[in-house]
Amino acid sequence: MKLTVKYVIEHEQELWNSIRWDNATPACTCGSQNLYKLSDGRFKCKCCKSVFSDTSNTIMKNSNLKKWQWLYAIFTLSTTRSISVREMSRHIGVSVSTAHKMLRKVRYYMSLDKIEMTQVAIIDEAHLGAWANMTLRKKFQYMRDNNFIGKNDKTYTKSQIFAASSDKKEHIVCLINEQNQCIIKHIRGQVNHKVMKTLIKQHNIKHIISDESKLYLNIPNTTVEQCNHSKGVWLTPNGNTTNPCENRFSWVKRIYNSYHTHTAADNLQLYLNQIAFKINHTGQPTEQVFLKLGRLCCTEYVSHTDITNYLRENELSNPREEIDPAILEMLNWGLVSKIEHKHKVYRK
Ligand SMILES: [Zn+2]
Repeated sequence: MKLTVKYVIEHEQELWNSIRWDNATPACTCGSQNLYKLSDGRFKCKCCKSVFSDTSNTIMKNSNLKKWQWLYAIFTLSTTRSISVREMSRHIGVSVSTAHKMLRKVRYYMSLDKIEMTQVAIIDEAHLGAWANMTLRKKFQYMRDNNFIGKNDKTYTKSQIFAASSDKKEHIVCLINEQNQCIIKHIRGQVNHKVMKTLIKQHNIKHIISDESKLYLNIPNTTVEQCNHSKGVWLTPNGNTTNPCENRFSWVKRIYNSYHTHTAADNLQLYLNQIAFKINHTGQPTEQVFLKLGRLCCTEYVSHTDITNYLRENELSNPREEIDPAILEMLNWGLVSKIEHKHKVYRK
């Protein structure tokens, strides 16, 4: 069997049966397979007398859409890199808001594919999105380079300036276990030691492989192994690297920048779950990945409120620091023309 879009549309009932009942006979939630078949296609259990259909308690519950439309959504997200909501709505002939809700649900089910963290993990963090204030950063760098501020001037630290200029950026953290499977987490606001501590405690990690960042130091019951990237050292003393994380980030950035640049920060975790699911299943046959996602979609029913609650409960957040007005004032001080000039030369 070669799984294509045409195949999915033509064999909707067959495929639905294979993901809903695992290619076996239908069974009641009480475990009994003794069923009456009612005239409308539903089943009645001989044992507990409950009535159910082949869409009860699945992603399709309370939905007026056809099976092939759901299967198409599941198929597309499991096989292609990603798809935009508008494109999806054109492909299956539904409104944009319906397509948005469908994809949101399928992305939620992707998050049910739980990855167990091992005691040893590679951790790294990155930014997502455009710099809110790139000139601010450039000015700071310019002032440093031309000795307007001394390298040892502690009035405004590098991290404060970076925090001010990364105002609208979202932070993401990637954890990779010993089986090379990853979890990608979104962090609202600034990343600091406290957030990292919660994250590492949640996943019960005992040994961290990371870059030179101070975020991972002094976490109780954990040992750290670091390589100093700023000094050009890419291997830790035991010969490990954080390069697998960089690989994941390049995936995330490529997919994010080509399909989902206007994603609301509230929903970002769903997209990250989708990308992590895709990365963890690369190289596996299409049918296998499709069946896996399809079966996850038939395990339980969730409403949109449930998804919102899931996102809120799992959110790692830390309020952004207030930007010191003095930093902005200092940086607005008569350097604009020079920087602009430098910029023009660079562009040519
Ligand atoms: Zn029953």
